[in-house]
Parts: sequence; structure tokens; C-alpha cells
Amino acid sequence: MTGRRLFTRRQAIATSSAGLAGAMINLKLPGIANLEQDKLAIKGGPMVHPGSWPQWPQWNREAEEGITAMLRTGRWWRGSGEHVIDFEKKYAEMNGVKRCLATSSGTSALLVSLDALGIDAGDEVLVSPFTFVASFNVILMKKALPVFVDSDPDTFLMDPAAIGKNVNERTRGILPVHIYGLPADMDKINTESRKHNLQVIEDACQAWLAVYKGKKVGTLGDLGCFSFQNSKNIPAGEGGAIISNNEALMDRCHSIHNCGRPYGSVKTGSGYALNGGNYRMQQMQALILLSQMEKFSENAEKRHSNAMYLASKLAGIPGIKPVKLAEGAEIPAWHFYPFRFVSGEFDNVSREMFMKALNAEGINCSDGYDPPQKEELFRVTLSSRGFKRLFPEDRIRRWFEEVSLPSNDRLCKEAVIIYQSMLLGSRQDMDDIVNAIWKIYRNRKELV
Ligand SMILES: *Cc1c(COP(=O)(O)O)cnc(C)c1O
Repeated sequence: MTGRRLFTRRQAIATSSAGLAGAMINLKLPGIANLEQDKLAIKGGPMVHPGSWPQWPQWNREAEEGITAMLRTGRWWRGSGEHVIDFEKKYAEMNGVKRCLATSSGTSALLVSLDALGIDAGDEVLVSPFTFVASFNVILMKKALPVFVDSDPDTFLMDPAAIGKNVNERTRGILPVHIYGLPADMDKINTESRKHNLQVIEDACQAWLAVYKGKKVGTLGDLGCFSFQNSKNIPAGEGGAIISNNEALMDRCHSIHNCGRPYGSVKTGSGYALNGGNYRMQQMQALILLSQMEKFSENAEKRHSNAMYLASKLAGIPGIKPVKLAEGAEIPAWHFYPFRFVSGEFDNVSREMFMKALNAEGINCSDGYDPPQKEELFRVTLSSRGFKRLFPEDRIRRWFEEVSLPSNDRLCKEAVIIYQSMLLGSRQDMDDIVNAIWKIYRNRKELV
């Protein structure tokens, strides 16, 4: 194992220090492609990274005592103890924002936000297409129509220039997604939304404490939503949160998430003030979150520094296009490290073959999201009785026929992502990622 590592480290010096030029020289060395050590793992050669990667989630044993104590009291729901409120205070403080409401999941945070902002049946809501299904599921659940705004393939984010042409008299809201923790250009999005009088919900479900122009994402629109699902960078099994500086709006969120009971400025003579549901966080979730947040900053810094290092090294490899940060994006949360794989610059090796070869080298990677407009769920949902009553037939027909997301379609074909937990690895681990991709590049002709 040491021998393999030594060899790849030497290659690292040859390739990454001299960049593209180094690789070219390497390519011209007589017989290098035949060296047993440079044989692709997918073809039976040695793996660049035979070791393991940091596991996720990571448990903090010091939190066990507090959890056991809470369990023994039987005070498990938020109304019977202080832990959810403690979490809300802490998360608001970390985001530099007045209010935080904890919820049962990111999906419920989004649902409550749509409700609080008065997004109603028959409305239209603009949304990023390169995202997890929950971002547009919640719009459909309100019996509103999600309208996808094309992506900028360089940034993986909603293209602000494509917003205006999707607005019509039914459009009420916009839901930009800070996908992979990459801050979207919120100044441009807010300018467009003011112009068209739209409510802004930031889907920051992958963007905990990411920084845009000195501010935390989630504080830049009307409401910001987060997820703490098990795979996320702050995990609690399930969980979510809404943040905002707008007190009246947060009072509405609180009421709606608690069956419509009065809260703060949401008042009633007696009984229930609003139509709400039960989207409350449990005490157990809050205790797990409080313990996970202790290591959050240290982990976030490590991910960011490793991501920037990867970006600098990967930029020199033909066909590999590291994500470009949007204007104003300062510190992403890096839920994944994404890049685009351009097959045409890699001797037409397919992205699927490239990913197979990279996984074989011990570098876990995956593709991004599928084009959402092709999901079967739209055919089923938009042809329902309710949607037929709410929207003219012509509107639904045009939704299917005129949807045009050429940049996002291309992004979906080219995206490759590396897991956030791998960014918690060492510099040598990052060099392994870079070296594995160079190795595949050198041997690319074997993969077509
Ligand atoms: C995870 C996620 C959600 C939903 O969060 P859950 O907690 O799983 O309900 C929404 N949007 C995005 C972009 C996500 O990644």
C-alpha cells in the first residue's frame, strides 16, 4: 500500500505542480501508459485511494448524557422543555438573524414558508430546476404551479437573467435554491423579484451558514429554509428550520407550524387563528443538533479549504470544469463538491464511464440531478382534478410543450459530485482525488 501511495505522490509532483504542462510531459514519457502502476483500477490496476473516507454522520458521545436525561423525563415534545428553543436561539445567533423556527424537516420548513407568505392554490412559483425534488414538490402540494427558471451551467444556480420571461399575472413567488451550498446571486434575484412583486423563499436546505456579500444565506429573501436530514452537513436524522428578520412573518410561521394556534402578533379572540399543521421539531432532534453544531465551524472551514484546493488543482485537467462561484458568493457550505465533466474534451469518454473509473480508483462520486421537467410526477399531478379546476387547460398544455431548459439539461448531463464528508479528509486525500482524475485522463483512450 505504501508503495502505491509513494508512486501516486510522485505523480502528484509531476502533474499537479506543473499543471497541464506536467501531464503533457508525462504523456510523452516513453511507455508510461504501460507502467503497471499507472494501469486503471477499472482495468485491474492498483487503486489511487485504497483507504477509507471520513464517515458521516459523526457522533459526539459527550451529548449522550443530556439525551438520556431528557428521555427519562418523558418531556419529548417542544412544548415540554427548553431544548428546541435553545437550538432556535443558537441557530438564529449563528446566522445573525432575529428569528429562527425549528421544524420537523426541510420539506415542512418550505411548506410552512409558502403558507406564511400566502402562496395559494392556482398561483405560480418560479423555482431552480437543478435541485432535490422537495424544492418543487412543496409548490405542487400547495396546488400551485412550479415554473422552472433555467440554470447557469457555470454556477449550477438559477440564472437571474432568465427570471423575467417566466413571470405572468399568476406568478406570486420565487424559490431560488443554493444548491450544494453554493450561494445564488441574491442581489440580482431580489432586484427581479421586486420588479415583479414576488415573495422570495430561499431554499438553503444545503447551505447552512454559507456567506453571500458578508451575510448568511437564508437571511437575504423573505424567508430562508434549512434541512437537517441525516446526510446534511448539520444532521439530526430529520429536522429543519426557517429564519428571517421579519417578526410578523415568523409569528405566522410559528402559528402555522403549530396547528394554527395563536402566536405573537397572530391573535384571535379564542381558539385557532390560522389553518396550520403539526410541523414541530422534537426535543431529541434539538439535542442532536446542538451537539452537531459544536464541530460545525471547524468542519465547514476544512470543507472550504479543501474545496478551494481541489478547484485550483482540477482546473488544469482537460474536460474538468470546477464550479464557478456566483458574483457575491463568498463562502459556500459545500454540501457536495461539484464539477462538470465535458466528454468532448476527454476523447469522448462518457460521463458514466468516467464516474465508474473514478469510483474504481477509490474516489466516491456521483452524478447530479435529473432534468425535473421529465419526471413522471408532473404528468400525474398536473392532470389531477384539482389542477384542472385551478388552471386553464391551455396553461397546463403550455407547461409541458414550452418548457425549455437547455442550459440545465446540459448541466444534468455533465455534473459530477464528490461527497461533503470526503472534503473532511486530509490534503493527501485531496491529492488522491486529483491524481485519480489525471490517471484516468492519461489512460482515457482505454475507456472509449
Ligand atoms: C434536503 C433538501 C430538502 C428537503 O429537506 P428534508 O429535510 O429532506 O425534508 C429541500 N431542498 C433541498 C435542496 C434539499 O437538499
